[in-house]
Amino acid sequence: MKTIYFDNNATTKVAEEVLEEIRPYFSELYGNPSSMHTFGGQVGIKIREARENVAALLKCLPDEIIFTGCGTESDNTAIMGTLNAKPQRRKIITSRVEHPAVLTVCRELESHGYTVIEIGVDSSGRLDFDALENQVDDETAIVSIMWANNETGVVFPVERIAELCKNRDVVFHTDAVQAVGKLAINLKDSAIDLLSLSGHKLHAPKGIGVLYVRKGTRLTPFVLGGHQEGGRRAGTENVPGIIGLGKAAELAMRNFDEENNRVKYLRDKLEREILKSCPDCRINGDTENRLPNTSNISFEYIEGEAILLMLDKFGICASSGSACTSGSLEPSHVLRAMGVPFTAAHGSIRFSLSRYNTEEEVDFAIEKIPPIVNRLRELSPFVEK
Ligand code: PLP
Repeated sequence: MKTIYFDNNATTKVAEEVLEEIRPYFSELYGNPSSMHTFGGQVGIKIREARENVAALLKCLPDEIIFTGCGTESDNTAIMGTLNAKPQRRKIITSRVEHPAVLTVCRELESHGYTVIEIGVDSSGRLDFDALENQVDDETAIVSIMWANNETGVVFPVERIAELCKNRDVVFHTDAVQAVGKLAINLKDSAIDLLSLSGHKLHAPKGIGVLYVRKGTRLTPFVLGGHQEGGRRAGTENVPGIIGLGKAAELAMRNFDEENNRVKYLRDKLEREILKSCPDCRINGDTENRLPNTSNISFEYIEGEAILLMLDKFGICASSGSACTSGSLEPSHVLRAMGVPFTAAHGSIRFSLSRYNTEEEVDFAIEKIPPIVNRLRELSPFVEK
């Protein structure tokens, strides 16, 4: 059975070109880039190239890129590194719908005496900007607000938030793990100070991330040890991961608009046809400001997990919440923050596409989903018969 993969916000397939590029760095070119000999030195040259490619994707300087172990480490480093660099400031502002890579850190810090403010969202998942504006003050060490939400795809006004923070002399970090490769990013013309990304969300391997640190931003290193990454992140480099991410960044820049428009066309078709053929469905999240690849749909009266199991029988992979929260039957914290009614939150499915999806796959899903929904509703105790 063919796999139809609509779970690209959880992770993505490693691009063939990336695999080809990194293979030698597991075998014949296994040197340590910190070594003095030519064998290691040639690896160092490739790392430099990868740094330049990632910088080109984000439109920033290569020196502003720090390679990390994953998106989670980048988020942790941004927050902890800023707090450690500004010990006199004890307030952190974030949103209620962040990924656990940010929220868990903030809540842990709260238990250590920091003041943590979680800004809410409206029923479409849009950030309460006025509440944020009222909170950013000279006690605030860092504002950490994601660029795009992993569950709904809703995009936040990060440039506006960055300007607000800049004017109040507060560091602004954005978790752009879901935005990079899907939205145009230009850090040269932006007031964003810190930005996280993750390789495995853009067709590079798992276990490689980046923290962008604007030149001049004060940040205390989080992982201590050797002098790698200019003394800003210790640990022998994940050479294949870094080189793979460099290649993935190059691929993401290729036909950027065309590819994202095609993905958006497929997402829109999938969504439109599902809504047309399944009654009592709703899209979760602001459809105006949304990633081109993500659709979060609630199917009333039935469990998302039941839909997933039946989709799985046809080889269709989707998700009923973020990868980290699935496995528990608690409704997603994102949908709860949006005030999505309990029954709709329980019946929510996230479809997230990539440039490797085809129209045939979307057509196949459009054919299979309505009978699955009808069948489950026939069995549902919540539907009057
Ligand atoms: N931030 C967001 C918005 C995410 O979606 C994810 C992963 O799902 C992460 C952070 C964590 O990234 P990683 O899996 O590389 O640790």
